[in-house]
Amino acid sequence: TLSYQQHAYSAAAQKSLSRKPALFINGEWVASSHGELIDVEDPSSGKVVSQIVDASVADTDRAVAAARAAFDDGRWSGLPPIAREKIMLRLADLIEAHAEEFAELEAIDNGKPKTMAGAIDVPGAVSHIRYMAGFAAKVGGETTPPYTLPAGAFFTYTVKEPVGVCAQIVPWNFPLLMACLKVGPALAAGCTIILKPAEQTSLTALRLADLIAEAGIPAGVVNVITGYGHVSGDRLVKHPDVDKVAFTGSTEIGKLINKNATDTLKHVTLELGGKSPVVVMPDVDVAEAAPGAAGAIFFNSGQVCVAGSRLYAHRSVFDQVVEGIANTASFWAPRPSLDPAAHMGPLVSQEQFDRVMGYIEAGKRDGASVAMGGDAPSADGYYVNPTMLVNVNPQMSVVREEIFGPVVVAQRFDDLDEVVKEANNTQFGLAASVWTKDASTLHKLASRIKAGTVWANCHAMIDVALPFGGYKESGVGREQGRAGIEAYLETKSVIMKL
Ligand code: NAD
Repeated sequence: TLSYQQHAYSAAAQKSLSRKPALFINGEWVASSHGELIDVEDPSSGKVVSQIVDASVADTDRAVAAARAAFDDGRWSGLPPIAREKIMLRLADLIEAHAEEFAELEAIDNGKPKTMAGAIDVPGAVSHIRYMAGFAAKVGGETTPPYTLPAGAFFTYTVKEPVGVCAQIVPWNFPLLMACLKVGPALAAGCTIILKPAEQTSLTALRLADLIAEAGIPAGVVNVITGYGHVSGDRLVKHPDVDKVAFTGSTEIGKLINKNATDTLKHVTLELGGKSPVVVMPDVDVAEAAPGAAGAIFFNSGQVCVAGSRLYAHRSVFDQVVEGIANTASFWAPRPSLDPAAHMGPLVSQEQFDRVMGYIEAGKRDGASVAMGGDAPSADGYYVNPTMLVNVNPQMSVVREEIFGPVVVAQRFDDLDEVVKEANNTQFGLAASVWTKDASTLHKLASRIKAGTVWANCHAMIDVALPFGGYKESGVGREQGRAGIEAYLETKSVIMKL
């Protein structure tokens, strides 16, 4: 049994935890129509530390009405782009000024180490807003010469216009970062927003709403509603006044959302699950590649859409790589999120804990051997030890399905064709990493692996300037970069007879 020292919450965090549960609609904090609440847990202790509103269908309609009115009267899209840019930069500065508080809230709410949230989530959130702010004035149409019409007799051009009212539904693994990744391009494009954070992790989105108001974003432009996906999320997806849905979450819910958005033919972007391969070639320096492969799966307790959950190491280095990963066990040993020594925290919830342990047990039952971890420390909270399974085959559920926990399955390969075939033997296509010093091998693999992102000699290096999204059942559309803002714009053609 591990006895973890519990760490005290700061005064700023206490303030957020004790705020009156409310929804942020039309620039105001409002109570829900029915008074239902959802408990907020600290996954490091399993204790209930706060409560949030479970938004009803009526609450959701109210938020959509606010966003619709704010879009239709042009209070945001009608501003000079420089004004939108300035306000967004102010928002980024405000988030940065509260970085410490956001990192702690995220740690309390999600269970990720505060040090990780401070190093990755919060700076990532800030750079998403900053980078996208620059697009406010820099996306526009073209004067396109016509093809069949006589050029001198017609004047033809295109304009870019905001898509309209956007429902943005985000998951619990990177709550603030995902919220800012969604809100940034929509604001830059001139859209209005209803943001729905995950029911497990809404605290930072609520705090973000305070700063959205403080930054000077007009009332109704960004509305934040908390609640369950099958109630408020579902209503957003089906609401006739919502023009676009941007969703990050599981492939299962992504498919449902895609279906549900069809009746009103909304624009839909989906960032879904993955089972990303990590390919280790024989020429690597194992002392570098093994810790890299460990980080690819154990970062954020494996609750990462791009987690490197399938390891393929060349037969000549397989044993060394497996040993090198197993040697990182104490580094990645789970600890409470506010412990400064923590590199990995607990999983987000009991549900996620049961799901991950269920997969580990299924793997063992199917004949896999445990090369590392395979169990959970006995402690309050949802801790799972970093786990590696070997002697697996492509039919096992641990190899096929997204576990979304600190569990990697390791397999050997002999040649490039074989590893390409296995890497692509999945319903997913979100990401992959390739570890080699041979540039030619690297480019061959980069071109043959079907995934939205391929890393070389690193993993999960996300940069807002680079488009991100999935092949196959890992998603539809791209976020980040120019592609990210384009997803929030309509193109209008104007054809004028002179
Ligand atoms: P989830 O799909 O259950 O929930 C995600 C969000 O969708 C939550 O806000 C939830 O309330 C909402 N939701 C649930 N049912 C809904 C419905 N019927 N209609 C509308 N909204 C609904 O996923 P999760 O358990 O929160 O997150 C884990 C999963 O998300 C993993 O499978 C992971 O791969 C995926 N994920 C993908 C990415 C990516 O960028 N591709 C990023 C993070 C997580």
